[in-house]
Formats: sequence, structure tokens, C-alpha cells
Amino acid sequence: MNYSIRDDDVSYWTDVAQLESVYGQLLKEGAKISFAVVPFAYQVFNNGDWDAFYFGNERKYVYENKALVTWLLFWIEKGQIEIMQHGFDHAYYVALPDGAVRFLDISIRETIHKEKLLVRYIPEFLHKEFVVAREDIALGKKILEDAFKVTASVFVPPSNSISASSARALAMAGLNMSGMIGLNFNRPFSFSALKNYVTKIVWRLYNAIPYPFVMRYSAHKELAAFSFTSADRTDALHAAYAIAAHKNAPFVLAVHYWELFENEALRNAFNAFLSDKQRNSIFLSEYFK
Ligand SMILES: [Zn+2]
Repeated sequence: MNYSIRDDDVSYWTDVAQLESVYGQLLKEGAKISFAVVPFAYQVFNNGDWDAFYFGNERKYVYENKALVTWLLFWIEKGQIEIMQHGFDHAYYVALPDGAVRFLDISIRETIHKEKLLVRYIPEFLHKEFVVAREDIALGKKILEDAFKVTASVFVPPSNSISASSARALAMAGLNMSGMIGLNFNRPFSFSALKNYVTKIVWRLYNAIPYPFVMRYSAHKELAAFSFTSADRTDALHAAYAIAAHKNAPFVLAVHYWELFENEALRNAFNAFLSDKQRNSIFLSEYFK
């Protein structure tokens, strides 16, 4: 059975030594990896900690990190890495108790701590309005395509979250989407959207995993991914893979290189899962063909 490895969060701020540490050996053994890259990223601090993470105020283009671009281009030319688009700047916003919505920088983080505020986090493409989303998605796609001399055809929304209007914007840019497929109806209304909604609800009545096949909307396609962010999910990973194999369905394993780098138990479970199947990996975009 084939499957694909999706890595999120590579950006200007990525230390290429971490990518080499996590993926160097797998690539030498023939793995193919689909990287979801942030075109114009803010630096994130305390990533992965919901009570402490925040963003710096400076955005950087991915192509400004020359060592990163060189490393990725080497494996792109070998046909083992593909570039997908991970949002535009990966900003997070917070809705404060008084209703105000703010960019999550250090001063907002300190206010949240000091005043013990209960806030709601808003990922980039739940926050951006249609016109901004359309411009940012198109510009981000061009930044990646110019830097890596490829065509980006898959969009991974930060936090796997996207609004109906942003879904319309990504379809207009000619992109398909890899995300987590929730059970709410959150796409522009169409016959295909309604049909997909019913399909995924009915599927979940009888199956332990989200609908695992490609869903066709009027102007784009979507596919769910299995998010592997904790070694506690190792049994669930093996179970989800077994179900996909049984159903002859696609399987996308979504990880973060920085989490694999920092978390030894997660990295060991990841490597154990891949130990006999790295050569069966395919690019995520191939599932949309
Ligand atoms: Zn991300």
C-alpha cells in the first residue's frame, strides 16, 4: 500500500539541521516527502504550547533562508521532495473576552497571562476575509513557485482550519486541500459540497476514521490526513493505517519536523512506523491526480 508523508511548518525560520536530522536518513533510503511550506512566515515562539505560544512582529520570505532553499532544491531535483503551500504567514489571532480580535504577539500573550483571560484562538484562514485570503494565497503560491521552480498544487491550511470563503479562494488559485475533515458544513454551498457533507457524516456512523477518500468539490478536491503529534497516538496511527489499507484508501501521515526533532518518543514511533515502508511513500499531490 502506498501512503504519503506530509510535513508542516517549514519556513524561513527553519533550521535546516533539524530537517537533516529528522529526514536525512529516510530520504537516503528512498522516501518521498511532501513539505507544506509557509511562504512569508512570522517567527513563532513556544510552538506547540497553547498557553505560551506567540509570534514575533517580523515576517520573512522563505527564499531568504539560503541554506534551507539549497537543501530543499537538492531533494526536489532528485524527485523526493515536493513543495505544498502552508498558509501565507501562519499568523494566529485571538478573540478576547471583550470581543476584540488581536494578532497574537508578545504583548497580547502577556496580557492574557496577567489578566488570566479566556481567549479563542483563530488560525490564519479562519481570520482572513475573502479578498485578503485570495490575494495572500495567490502571492504565497507565487513566492513558493519562484523559489523552488515548481508548481504548488496542494494547500495545507494552518491548524487544518479554513473558512468557506477561504476554501473558495484556494480553489480559485487552482489548489487542492489537505486537511482534517470535520463534521460541520463549512464549504461554499453547492451540490457537490452537500453530497460530500452527507458522505462524510454517513461514513463516520460506520467507521473509526474520517472519510479517507478524495472529496471532489465543484472547483477543487480535498483529502483528510492523520495528524501524528504525540507518541500516545501510535496505536491510533497503526489502526488508521490498517483501515486505509483494508479499504484501499489513500493515507496521509501529517507531522511537524520540529516536533519530531524535539520529541524523541514521537520520533522513535514515527521511524518504527516507517521502518519497512519508506519506499512506498508517494507525493501527496499524486492522490489528487
Ligand atoms: Zn502549521
